[in-house]
Amino acid sequence: MKGILGGFVQTIKSFLTPPITRLYPYERPPLEPRYFGAPSLLWDDKVDEIVCVACNICARSCPDDCIHLTGEKYEGGKTTKKNIVKDYFIDLGRCSYCGICVEVCPFDANEMSPHFELSTYDRQQLVYDKDQLVKIARGVQRRMGKPDPQDVPVMGTIDPSQWR
Ligand code: SF4
Ligand code: SF4
Repeated sequence: MKGILGGFVQTIKSFLTPPITRLYPYERPPLEPRYFGAPSLLWDDKVDEIVCVACNICARSCPDDCIHLTGEKYEGGKTTKKNIVKDYFIDLGRCSYCGICVEVCPFDANEMSPHFELSTYDRQQLVYDKDQLVKIARGVQRRMGKPDPQDVPVMGTIDPSQWR
């Protein structure tokens, strides 16, 4: 009898407790300030130029061998770079989000972004090029936490209106 009453109490408690689930993707969960999403390439707004100098250290250090990049001689006059990145690809389908590419970069040219919505039917779409990697880094600065990642636009975010 005691067990049955306990079960009833638990049922009534659950009935009166507001739901804690979220209707993702219609309601997006708040991310922790130091959340590690996909690696990304930083853009220097002061000189309006990508930071990466194509030194290749990140690609050589990546344990999953998922970074491929090429560089070219720097012809601009905005910075003292000798080279600048031309093409840069990361296969996010293979990336383990370990952050090593960010740790080893001597130029603070990359950062782990809050971008995490990668679902696709085509694995080829998980290979992000330079422009996509710059886009997901928008608003992110070296060492996460500033500004609030929720303010950072995330590529590929589902538009709920398409599903209703
Ligand atoms: S986060 Fe790790 S696995 Fe992903 S690209 Fe960087 S080094 Fe490679
Ligand atoms: S992201 Fe950093 S480590 Fe990688 S190629 Fe560019 S400058 Fe070098």
